[in-house]
Amino acid sequence: MKTIILASNNQHKIKEFKEILKNFNILSLEDIGFLDEIEETGTTFLENSLLKAQAVHKFLKEHKLSYYVIADDSGLCVDALGGAPGVYSARYGGDHNSQANRDKLLNEMQGKTNRNAYFVCGLVFMRPDGSYAYLEGKTFGKITDREIGDTSFGFDPLFLSDDLGKTFGEVSKEDKNKVSHRKRAIDKLLELLEKEK
Ligand code: IMP
Repeated sequence: MKTIILASNNQHKIKEFKEILKNFNILSLEDIGFLDEIEETGTTFLENSLLKAQAVHKFLKEHKLSYYVIADDSGLCVDALGGAPGVYSARYGGDHNSQANRDKLLNEMQGKTNRNAYFVCGLVFMRPDGSYAYLEGKTFGKITDREIGDTSFGFDPLFLSDDLGKTFGEVSKEDKNKVSHRKRAIDKLLELLEKEK
């Protein structure tokens, strides 16, 4: 069974990846003893996910370990705001403060008629030799003028999904996961892993 290190300590993400990549042994950063904070200094989803993958790859090499690495970066891009908050989504209105981030978005969108937006999930899959593939999933929708639904994660209550006709804040996790940017990126990863066997 292939071992893949997921460059994250976010329990929610680890669980999601483990559920989808059932045929792989998924380990977190904690599992391999990687304790450093990886700074997301990139300006694109590719740059940020690559920074994380490279940091973990370097650590593995130093410890003479030979594993695959997956690193991800995600965010919300709003057309009327020139693609903001984009890679800065987690710290848009307050560092990892979802409510402050949503409040700022609502403020910035006041009076804007173009409400089109999309979530992006970028994934870097890095092989033990350092070569990598970048995969991206997107999901499209509109920014609402108030919060709808009681899921409080990120921008979910402000994102009216084109696919579901409801905000991500008011649908079940299962429904969201059918059309989400993360699901679409992971589907592409599964296709790739099939070929890498
Ligand atoms: P990261 O990929 O963990 O760095 O997350 C980036 C940020 O983008 C999160 O903190 C959220 O604000 C936002 N975000 C990413 N994916 C979603 C989603 O599925 N729903 C709501 N917000 C999201």
